[in-house]
Amino acid sequence: MTGTQHSVRSTTPDPEPPVHPAGAPAAPGAPAPTGIRLHAPAPGWSLTADVVVVGSGVAGLTAALRCSAAGLRTVVVTKARLDDGSTRWAQGGIAAALGEGDTPEQHLDDTLVAGAGLCDPAAVRTLVTEGPGAVRRLIESGAHFDTSATTGGLALTREGGHHRSRIAHAGGDATGAEVSRALVAAVRAHDIPTVENALVLDLLTDAEGRAAGVTLHVMGEGQHDGVGAVHAPAVVLATGGMGQIFSVTTNPPVSTGDGVALALRAGAEVSDLEFVQFHPTVLFLGADAEGQLPLVSEAVRGEGAHLVDADGVRFMTGQHELGELAPRDIVAKGIMRRMREHGAAHMYLDARHFGAAMWEQRFPTILAACRAHGIDPVTEPVPIAPAAHYASGGVRTDQRGRTTVPGLYACGEVACTGVHGANRLASNSLLEGLVYAERIADDIAARRSAPALDGPQGALQERVPAPVAAPEVPAHPLLGPEARFTIQRIMTEGAGVLRSEASLAHAADQLRRLHEDACDALAEQGKTAEPGVDSWEATNLLCVAQVLLAAARERTETRGCHWREDHPERHDDTWRRHIVVRLNPDRTLALRTTAMEAFPPTTPEASPAPDRETPLAADPEATPAPLASAAEAGRPTPAADPAAPSTPAAGAARPHHPRPQEQ
Ligand SMILES: Cc1cc2nc3c(=O)[nH]c(=O)nc-3n(C[C@H](O)[C@H](O)[C@H](O)COP(=O)(O)OP(=O)(O)OC[C@H]3O[C@@H](n4cnc5c(N)ncnc54)[C@H](O)[C@@H]3O)c2cc1C
Repeated sequence: MTGTQHSVRSTTPDPEPPVHPAGAPAAPGAPAPTGIRLHAPAPGWSLTADVVVVGSGVAGLTAALRCSAAGLRTVVVTKARLDDGSTRWAQGGIAAALGEGDTPEQHLDDTLVAGAGLCDPAAVRTLVTEGPGAVRRLIESGAHFDTSATTGGLALTREGGHHRSRIAHAGGDATGAEVSRALVAAVRAHDIPTVENALVLDLLTDAEGRAAGVTLHVMGEGQHDGVGAVHAPAVVLATGGMGQIFSVTTNPPVSTGDGVALALRAGAEVSDLEFVQFHPTVLFLGADAEGQLPLVSEAVRGEGAHLVDADGVRFMTGQHELGELAPRDIVAKGIMRRMREHGAAHMYLDARHFGAAMWEQRFPTILAACRAHGIDPVTEPVPIAPAAHYASGGVRTDQRGRTTVPGLYACGEVACTGVHGANRLASNSLLEGLVYAERIADDIAARRSAPALDGPQGALQERVPAPVAAPEVPAHPLLGPEARFTIQRIMTEGAGVLRSEASLAHAADQLRRLHEDACDALAEQGKTAEPGVDSWEATNLLCVAQVLLAAARERTETRGCHWREDHPERHDDTWRRHIVVRLNPDRTLALRTTAMEAFPPTTPEASPAPDRETPLAADPEATPAPLASAAEAGRPTPAADPAAPSTPAAGAARPHHPRPQEQ
């Protein structure tokens, strides 16, 4: 436990909460919780707050600071240290229309092009219009950005897909580290209570399905050790990405998709999970290398480095007019294809012609990372391969960050606000974390001070709602820690850069067996893996991986960062839609698609008309697809939505204008 706790009332232990059967009737408009929880001991201690923020990256800390400033008792809980997460690894910067001549409208256009027809224009408009102010407020709160030697104003650079210099950066290529430093310092300066080394397990909900706090396990000492609970009527998920479902990723070890898994168990909807951005040039450290690997920035190619195979042949030539500087997904695909043709585990990035001086001055961080692993880019080509980088989808929210579960919010990489569509525009993710975290804090504050509002998404209760107790006997087993590596291998082989029905079905089948084996052990021997961080994370990874596979199989087209080798074309007539997934109480999946116009509203007052939502089979509510056996569920064809426009998205036909990208 770190930070002060004076504003948090601790009631240890909690009075026994009332027990309600799983799946109790939900409040009107609220989804029924699934009743599924991670198997864990009952909470032995508790805190009470107005808001609990889960995660301490750019999104979580921004939300916490603003909630606290609005007078809300706010607690931040985070899995490792405050600065662990993707935020501190961000290199390139934050995109915002801050430069002379630049406008939010131009930023909007560039974002829509990158999103390949699936961005929600209203969400993007919010991002780009509120973005400049959010960056200024970040600076006011203590973040130091690089400034121009000539004007003294912010130094702005340009990245892939941006038509303007609008990327604010710090410390050259260390933007995330500075953002994280400044936000952590501000949280400490404001004495906001924080609980570190606290893995959040599940959402607590009241009998009507409203958020009532979270359960969490603290690897600490003293009062808040072991499993406990934070009771609060507003829960902000800011748990970051899910890169760890793949063997190699640029994401840190904490990025295990916990927030998405938690939200699914709580009955929330997730969307666009099939869109995983793979970064083409990540340092290859051997076929057995696992986990987080160093990024070799696109700026290296921007400065003239070549992608070559083992024979020194530049294989991107002729594949795209821009060769090595083609859009990120095209380069990743080109690399994967060449690797397959050659039976090679990696390709090379050759920048020996830079010479030592340029490497040292322009790319000191990358040079140091390579040399730390025994590779000298000055004298040898750098081995690289694509790796999972960014989750464009996540927990579906409206523009106030509300999920489909009343009281549960999501922001940052864990959320799907509709901003990124099928592919994230470079440097839009830090900005999304800032803008939507602020909006969430404003919404919580407004709902607390407007008790007249009615309905499940109306006023937040002053009184902390009584949570439904977890079932004593787990209906669903935990996976053992070793399953993490099995899942990562399966997902890398089956659902990586290049996908097909065969590869996805094989992966789904393997994951289903993993789950069934665990179920058999539970049924036959009453055994499940020992509750603990590794088994909870592995179980979350399995859940998220299975949903990703189900969505990737449904989307029988190639769009943005979702590449189907068996469906190489983009089909706007049938697939300009979002795949929305929910978990059923029996752990099957309910999949449906929504038209563009129906995304992303989640609040009752903004609910889409039912005829705009197309379940994937006859069930008017949704199609249950067994989570562990999507392969057997048949492959329904999405019904053509008469309301869906058959023309490409605004700006979708515009050419790409790739530039050197940092992230
Ligand atoms: C190498 C790299 C370079 C990048 N470069 C850029 C860039 O230049 N510009 C840009 O815009 N984006 C960039 N990105 C993407 C961007 O950094 C992330 O999308 C963004 O930082 C996500 O912020 P976040 O607050 O949502 O999550 P994170 O910063 O990942 O934070 C998530 C937090 O949640 C916590 N958490 C997770 N699970 C739990 C749990 N179960 N219980 C409690 N806490 C939990 C974690 O410990 C962490 O504190 C880059 C990403 C990487 C990996």
